[in-house]
Amino acid sequence: MSVSLTYLGGASEVGRVGAVLEGNEGRLLLDYGLQPDDPPKHPLPAPDVDALLLTHAHLDHCGLVPDVASRGTPIVCTPVTGELAERMAQDTLRVSEIENYPRPFHPTAIGDLNRNLRTTKPGRVEYRGGFEFGMHNAGHIPGAVMFDFPQQEFIFTGDIHTVDTQLTRAVKPKPCKTLAIESTYGGREHPPRSEVESELVDSIEDVVNSGGKVVLPSFGLGRSQELLMLVHDLGFEVWLDGMGRDIARILQKHPGSIRDFKAMNKAFRSTNFVRYSRQRSAAMNGDVIVTTSGMLNGGPVLHYLSKLKNDASSAVFLTGYQVPGTNGHLLKETGKLRLERDPNSPSFDLQCKLKSFDLSGHAGHSQIVDFIDKCNPEKVILYHGDNREAFEEDLKDYELILPQENVPIQID
Ligand SMILES: [Zn+2]
Repeated sequence: MSVSLTYLGGASEVGRVGAVLEGNEGRLLLDYGLQPDDPPKHPLPAPDVDALLLTHAHLDHCGLVPDVASRGTPIVCTPVTGELAERMAQDTLRVSEIENYPRPFHPTAIGDLNRNLRTTKPGRVEYRGGFEFGMHNAGHIPGAVMFDFPQQEFIFTGDIHTVDTQLTRAVKPKPCKTLAIESTYGGREHPPRSEVESELVDSIEDVVNSGGKVVLPSFGLGRSQELLMLVHDLGFEVWLDGMGRDIARILQKHPGSIRDFKAMNKAFRSTNFVRYSRQRSAAMNGDVIVTTSGMLNGGPVLHYLSKLKNDASSAVFLTGYQVPGTNGHLLKETGKLRLERDPNSPSFDLQCKLKSFDLSGHAGHSQIVDFIDKCNPEKVILYHGDNREAFEEDLKDYELILPQENVPIQID
């Protein structure tokens, strides 16, 4: 059988992933994301396929899945990913309305997504488009998987992490002949996660014990819940605001997708959830506020920081990557912050303490190399990275492919 892989997006860049796996009997689409830029960027148009296999529910992998579902295409993913993808889709429509972007899909496409979900779990064997495949935990966020095609001895990773986090268990390497793997952290390493976690917890304790408040801007999916698990037993009054609340409710329905479900629920029970905007004044009287958006480009975080910006005893701790051009990047680099969504609005000096902690959900450079060595493939396809050349020396023993969009790669 002749099998090829063609990227529609997310080959030489981080974001908007989409790839077509084509064989003699049919075609599969692997992820179909949206890069939440200003304005959002799409991958190349997707052809008709027998099914879409979705690795996880981050927007850069799932953002345009509703559009594909509206053609009646079956969407294959884990149950929690399906539910999260629907919630993300609602948010995409909301943001495009606020920001005045064209809608990336019709609102009825969310119902189509729901109807066309064909959920499955790691350990099961599936057949679509003439391909046999299975899925394995990818360790990135709850529900995230990599896809494995045993006939072709081919693995497509999606995003992976090789260490346990509060929410997820590390990905396990799997022997294969061809490995298509994300390379987000090419040339960059993470400090040991447990050290970063303790340092963050200690810093939060210092601020609250000396009378300040801590704002933790964070992505609604994954990071918000992870932070709640880190802070819940410190004895502080913790509040969660933004989309993270709905995501928490979804995760509570899927025990199997969480590394320590009991611990997660315990953390949620001791958290105060902001349900209405008028509860924000109560949250302001608490100690720790976990809130969206992670890059400070909008969301309730701007409300809290507008109140706290002159309070030198309080702190803002960043735990996620800040994309250049975002408000969070501006803050990290200059200590200044815009308090409106509008990128042309004036920026203010933030008097609060400011610190960044590396709690990435992606494997670092050496972790990727080590994972590849353990999978022991012949051919390595590096995608989802803007510094893929950084791997050339460490991967010189493999046939290394740095794919470009719209150029087919022969798999089998
Ligand atoms: Zn991701």
